[in-house]
Amino acid sequence: MAAGVDPASVWDIPAQAHAAEALRGAVARGEVGHAWAFVGPAGVGQEAAARGLAAALNCPAPRAPGEPCGRCSVCDRCRRGAFAAYTEFTPTGATHRVDDVRGTWLVTASRSTTEGSWKILRVVDADRMNEAAANAFLKGLEEPPERTVWILDVADPDELPDTILSRCRSLMFAAWAPADLDAQGLRLGLDDPADRALAVRVAAGSPAALARLADPGEVGAKGSVARSSGLAYLRAHRDIPARLRAEKGFALSAARAIDDEVKARTALVKDEGRAELADLAQSYGDELPRGIAKQIEERNARREREARTLVVQAALDDLLSWYRDCLLVGAGGDPADALHADAVDALRADARALGAAGILRAVDLVLATRAELERNLQVGLALEALLLELSTLTMAPLRAGSR
Ligand SMILES: [Zn+2]
Repeated sequence: MAAGVDPASVWDIPAQAHAAEALRGAVARGEVGHAWAFVGPAGVGQEAAARGLAAALNCPAPRAPGEPCGRCSVCDRCRRGAFAAYTEFTPTGATHRVDDVRGTWLVTASRSTTEGSWKILRVVDADRMNEAAANAFLKGLEEPPERTVWILDVADPDELPDTILSRCRSLMFAAWAPADLDAQGLRLGLDDPADRALAVRVAAGSPAALARLADPGEVGAKGSVARSSGLAYLRAHRDIPARLRAEKGFALSAARAIDDEVKARTALVKDEGRAELADLAQSYGDELPRGIAKQIEERNARREREARTLVVQAALDDLLSWYRDCLLVGAGGDPADALHADAVDALRADARALGAAGILRAVDLVLATRAELERNLQVGLALEALLLELSTLTMAPLRAGSR
């Protein structure tokens, strides 16, 4: 489509040609509507598509109907998600809350923007609205402001009320095939086949998840690890349950390591936020409009919370998957089906030590901690308590119920 030195089309989204063409066509025909559901696994191109739509609707000099120029300041900021009329809402915890819907989403929808004629409001993980949030949001969807387009990222349509989905035009986003992810892993520098296979398995069809795993990490001052690589981090998590059983005192150091990772990640996000603000101030001629500065500061605070949530949830998810694998192996299932198929001996040992009742108790403990961390930000303390309890569980297994 692009000729000569033209930059790549915003619609050039790997593996999502169908969705991209539907959006481009809708803009070209002037039939964009006011709400879309991007249905598919998270992180397979929804972000690029939503930002492409923002550019297509707001570019002052499109190459063709529905085809933004890709080189102007509006296109550039849309692509970076830093355009005034483009906003992304991400969950502040495990769910979207009604306070966010009323206090932020609907307010943003009704407010006029400082720049741009079309407002694009993207709800990331929209299927994680709780019921109150969904009800409040429905009211906003029923009375759409003009030239405002909602985009809902929906991994599981069953999690959203039909009343919301029926008001959206659905567009399917496809998971990447393992072979494509494998090739992408090579491009991202995952040269070791075992590393790549693990990353592809855990990424579960999502190139965004794969990129996080392939992230080489960062070395801080004096050679200390400022941020470990995604894979090193994944492997460190995967070790935790087995080491809880084998090493005395490991619970405390593991909890501390996760807490350190949380701090390193939030510090990094904070730095990125500051750099972006400075960057943006420059593109506005050193004087950032107050409304935009505030919007970006709020978004940065949100990103810090997300970074914290991501690290903790990843650690808890890993613990859960471990104990689920224990149940599978303990019940005589095929170890090849286990997510930790590479650690079958350790799984068997844990399954034996814990018994079925102990494994279920471990799962309950992890779930309770997850719920607690939704309300409480004392990550280090909560993890310490959890890991200590899990290690006691393995060393002195429950006898009742285990046969
Ligand atoms: Zn443009």
